[in-house]
Amino acid sequence: MLELRGVEKRYGGALAAGPLELAIGAGEVVALIGPSGGGKSTVLKLLLGLLAPEAGTVLLAGAPLRDDPAVRRRFGYVVQGGGLFPHLTAAANAALVARHLGWDRARVRARLEALAALARLPAGALERFPSELSGGQAQRVSLMRALFLDPEVLLLDEPLGALDPITRAELQDDLRAAFRALGRTVVLVTHDLAEAAYLAPRLVVLRDGRIVQDGTLEDLVRAP
Ligand code: ADP
Ligand code: ADP
Repeated sequence: MLELRGVEKRYGGALAAGPLELAIGAGEVVALIGPSGGGKSTVLKLLLGLLAPEAGTVLLAGAPLRDDPAVRRRFGYVVQGGGLFPHLTAAANAALVARHLGWDRARVRARLEALAALARLPAGALERFPSELSGGQAQRVSLMRALFLDPEVLLLDEPLGALDPITRAELQDDLRAAFRALGRTVVLVTHDLAEAAYLAPRLVVLRDGRIVQDGTLEDLVRAP
């Protein structure tokens, strides 16, 4: 579904990631883990074409990734911090793309209701502004926005960062259930090994811009 072949990313002249070889199958749930600065966000942005590599090829369903709206709509992306616009309600944030597509109100409302159920967003929260939401609710709205057009691939950058432990545990459970219900390809970034192992059967460890381990938690623990 997603593949990196000999991919390198530089910022200025400095190599930030690569060379990278990675293949992610359709329906796989993969966590990118590793220390801060290891290249996790960079790999996520390469996978969705938000960053262009200086060398190598990124493939989506076997074809080189192209920069066009039809391709971008195949991805749902939750940026680090959620990226909600503070001046828009949760509903307007979640349905941002619908404006461009000219959906009518009834269609938008129906889609939002379905997504709120999937993301377990409490009733009433859709009419609030981001500053009026709890951290966990805001993350649920970001997830709804990413899923609005039912993308084939979902990419999440630290979806559980900066949450208190109880909210985090609840959201972990709900994310895991949502990934199963969706059956889509999911790539998420976290620096927390336990969280990664809970959410994703496959863990890819990045260090200094290189993939140093790739497998199940058992594989990783067993490795020398
Ligand atoms: P992680 O997500 O694992 O914390 P990143 O992908 O953010 O790692 O960063 C990988 C490396 O690239 C780090 O050395 C970081 O400092 C560098 N880097 C990331 N973004 C930029 C940028 N916009 N400009 C320059 N260097 C960057
Ligand atoms: P940063 O490097 O500062 O974390 P990014 O380059 O990841 O920021 O993203 C910049 C903005 O572009 C974000 O607000 C993000 O929501 C938006 N964006 C870019 N591509 C997409 C996409 N495919 N889907 C949703 N939002 C996107």
